[in-house]
Amino acid sequence: MIQLFAAVTLIVLLAGSQVVAQTIYPIDRAEILAGAQFDFKVEFSDRVDPAKMKVTVNGADYAAAFGQSGNFMDREDGKDQSALLLRNVSISRPGDVTVEVSDGTRSRSVVWTVYDTGPRKAKNVILFIGDGLSPAHRVAARILSKGIAEGKSRGKLAIDDMPHMALVATAGSDSIITDSANSASAYATGHKSAVNAMGVYADRTANPLDDPRVETITSLAKRRLGLAIGVVTNTEIEDATPAAMVAHTRRRAAYDEIVAQYFAAKPDVLMGGGSANFLPQAAAGSKRKDDVDYIARFRDAGYQVATTKPELDAAAKSEARQLLGLFATGNMDGALDRKFLKGGGVKKFPDQPDLTEQVQAALNVLSRNEAGFFLMVESGLIDKYAHVLDMERAVYDTIMLDNAVRQTRDWARARGDDTLILVLADHNHPNSLVGTINDDMSTTPNVPLRERVGVYEKAGFPNYPAPDAEGYPSRVDVSKRLAIFSASLPDHYETYRPKLDNPNEPTMKADGPESFKANDKYKDVPGVVLRFGNLPAMIGASVHSGEDVILTATGPGSERVHGSMDNTEVFRVMVDALGLAPPQ
Ligand SMILES: [Zn+2]
Repeated sequence: MIQLFAAVTLIVLLAGSQVVAQTIYPIDRAEILAGAQFDFKVEFSDRVDPAKMKVTVNGADYAAAFGQSGNFMDREDGKDQSALLLRNVSISRPGDVTVEVSDGTRSRSVVWTVYDTGPRKAKNVILFIGDGLSPAHRVAARILSKGIAEGKSRGKLAIDDMPHMALVATAGSDSIITDSANSASAYATGHKSAVNAMGVYADRTANPLDDPRVETITSLAKRRLGLAIGVVTNTEIEDATPAAMVAHTRRRAAYDEIVAQYFAAKPDVLMGGGSANFLPQAAAGSKRKDDVDYIARFRDAGYQVATTKPELDAAAKSEARQLLGLFATGNMDGALDRKFLKGGGVKKFPDQPDLTEQVQAALNVLSRNEAGFFLMVESGLIDKYAHVLDMERAVYDTIMLDNAVRQTRDWARARGDDTLILVLADHNHPNSLVGTINDDMSTTPNVPLRERVGVYEKAGFPNYPAPDAEGYPSRVDVSKRLAIFSASLPDHYETYRPKLDNPNEPTMKADGPESFKANDKYKDVPGVVLRFGNLPAMIGASVHSGEDVILTATGPGSERVHGSMDNTEVFRVMVDALGLAPPQ
């Protein structure tokens, strides 16, 4: 077994060294906004004599082309490998750019496309991200919040009711399957990145904070146009999607450093959970590894700080132009727990605002900047719930996303539609709506739960109560419920029933190293089915999938949204609407 492993490794190494003598960042076929900053890096596979090294940009020596000679590292990371790194370069003229690199014997070239933008069309850009939002969540949200009769929905979701729509491909530079870091990074920078990385090309060095950077839309919008910047989520604010709007790291788990990068960038509005990494290590609930009090730092820098919904409302009504809202030490709670079940962290943090209230406060504060603003809003728990096979909670947070979008569209309409609004997922979850679960014990008491899954004509229509004014049915434990199943499964007990106390926990640690097994907690639930997973035992939850995601858009610049798009093109739609390239 060990011999086999060694042989496989050798083949991989040989193949690797034969294919690429030099790695160049940005990568081949990168599309780069004219004037946007990026770090240029060449990694040589061995030591190179700088006198023999030749690096050209459209035929010109790189130092002349970029205006700096950068930093040549003879033995990068103390190994027999040289590297060349230039920080903060940019290319102002649009067109194809060929970069050729030679170490004296071996050479490689990449071609980048530098693109321009038209004149500014939108005063503001608002990017809504439903993290892990799958078409099944979307259809379920429509059925629950609008109702359906004889096959026709009784209404449209705001996220569907948009003039422009596209399918967006989500693969990253290292894998067909993306995570929220590199997918949000593609939207925020227009560059592909790798799993766990944001705002950088993941390089080979050990340091996760030194990787070659690419500029984010928040940096560009602030630097070039003086726009206000808002980042709003209901996950930890340091989590991948919100962090990718601002931060640069190959390691998304570097929360302390991400908080430091937030503080350096000073987005005007920053809202979510995750206060644990803002609190000094001595404070209760802190997860920081130092004594820095970032809440105090933000306050000293002029931010209004809110930790509850009443404090948020007060801040929104004040004259505040900068707002930090941190409403839980970890992730906030979703709509189903906050409004109905009171599970999860609601008892500990009973005064959390709804995403719609966070968005309203953000719009109030950000629109005080006359220059306009860029705002990213994430309904981030759709993904967390999909991972733990908790379909009801994921669907309720999809309805919440829809409410936030509707409210924002109404806000934009009242201003004469000066705002580009985009709504999309960052990656898919392999969920499917396959029918209903017919759980009427009064008429069919002896039928096992598995036999109660109704498909085709037996699915019929669910019987959730009519939705309230916000689109939420008051109960999910009705006798005919939607059956949404994941195609990626760890071993788990399928109970076929919503979890009314706390979010689902399908797995628990198994005895082996880094492996999981079905959670015993549900073993004795009547009618439960032990379902053997199709994932490796080291995976304790459902995983992301690589299908395209749906993008809908309205407002100035939204006409660029159509057909089949790459995730990097979403950045291009936004920078084009804001006219972020320098005038030619
Ligand atoms: Zn996820």
